[in-house]
Amino acid sequence: MSLIVQKYGGTSMGSPERIREVARRVERFVKEGHQVVVVVSAMSGETNRLLALAKELNPDPDPRELDVIASTGEQVSIGLLALALHKLGVKAKSCTGFQVRILTDDAYSKARILSIDEENMRRDLATGHVVVVAGFQGIDAKGNITTLGRGGSDTTGVALAAALTADECQIYTDVDGVYTTDPRVCPDARRLDTITFEEMLELASLGSKVLQIRSVEFAGKYKVKLRVLSSFTDVNSTDMGTLITFEEDQNMEQAIISGIAFNRDEAKITVVGVPDRPGVAFAILGPVADANIEVDMIIQNASIEGMTDFSFTVHRNDFKRTMQILESNVKPAIGARAIVGDDKIAKVSLVGIGMRTHAGIASKMFRSLSEERINIQMISTSEIKTSVVVDEKYMELAVRVLHKAFELDKPATEERMKA
Ligand code: ASP
Ligand code: MG
Repeated sequence: MSLIVQKYGGTSMGSPERIREVARRVERFVKEGHQVVVVVSAMSGETNRLLALAKELNPDPDPRELDVIASTGEQVSIGLLALALHKLGVKAKSCTGFQVRILTDDAYSKARILSIDEENMRRDLATGHVVVVAGFQGIDAKGNITTLGRGGSDTTGVALAAALTADECQIYTDVDGVYTTDPRVCPDARRLDTITFEEMLELASLGSKVLQIRSVEFAGKYKVKLRVLSSFTDVNSTDMGTLITFEEDQNMEQAIISGIAFNRDEAKITVVGVPDRPGVAFAILGPVADANIEVDMIIQNASIEGMTDFSFTVHRNDFKRTMQILESNVKPAIGARAIVGDDKIAKVSLVGIGMRTHAGIASKMFRSLSEERINIQMISTSEIKTSVVVDEKYMELAVRVLHKAFELDKPATEERMKA
């Protein structure tokens, strides 16, 4: 007998029929003799509906009240799933975050979990209940309701699995696992049986929407065995989805590159003709940071005759504001010649732990792109990631070209490992 935490997302809980399906899947695991804790999201679209409702009454809502409202979607879901389980004759009990006692900090709408009291859940499990816990919500030390950020039910699932030292945390969603890249962009994309936690972390931070990034961080920290699978398969399906592993558990068949991520939400800004002297990078990026704008890639050219160019990327939504800050404050302050911006760019990234040990990945990437005459505008690398900025028009082509060049359509083989 093992203890399993299962998390079902909004589409999995999207209708009474879907909830009945979830109940049947939970029943299957109970019948197999497992103890099951289920974490659920609000029914799909519900959180958006609630937030819109709040903003209709007050365009500048108090974050405390917003969390009171947003958290209700999950409360409905737990009650409904408990009822559906009862209908099947499965003992089940719903619990809000407050009832479990999921303690968070007081950062409304993006609270972090501080501790989880697993005693109540253990007691219910011991009496043969399935415990159905509301995702996304907790309480702070003063008893205020908090939420964990959009997609936060993933984090609830992983955190409960960590607190209960569950044998596995299964995240059920509307895709059947983690893919080498988005199949809508590259039809040859392949479902991965395993991916390392580090790679998953990179993919999540690069904008892959499969898992909330905090849930991956949590899984890494507490070594939670995490699996992504589909709730849209037959309830008796033995499909194992994608397992997120730890590097030390990896067998030799690990591919060099595991996936390709891309992101259209980027914009590039270049400050042209800035003096190359101490304090200039800070003079440019300080005011941007003060405006709470996140900067992603940063490049400074080698200087010629004491002058250089300085480029960086921001989220496309922040593009106009960043340009204004630079034009009005930064340009006069440092005496830059011009501020040039482009919000029609995209970032394409290769991710793979094999980059640590294999040379030539970046050059192969650049060669493949050049063969398609795709111009690379910016490059950045980390230990297990190489990213390029290209014209948005060529993003999808770039993804397909790289997917092919690195043979991501084929399962990892001895040959590819030597490549
Ligand atoms: N219901 C919340 C959201 O839509 C949390 C979640 O689904 O994970 O973001
Ligand atoms: Mg989600």
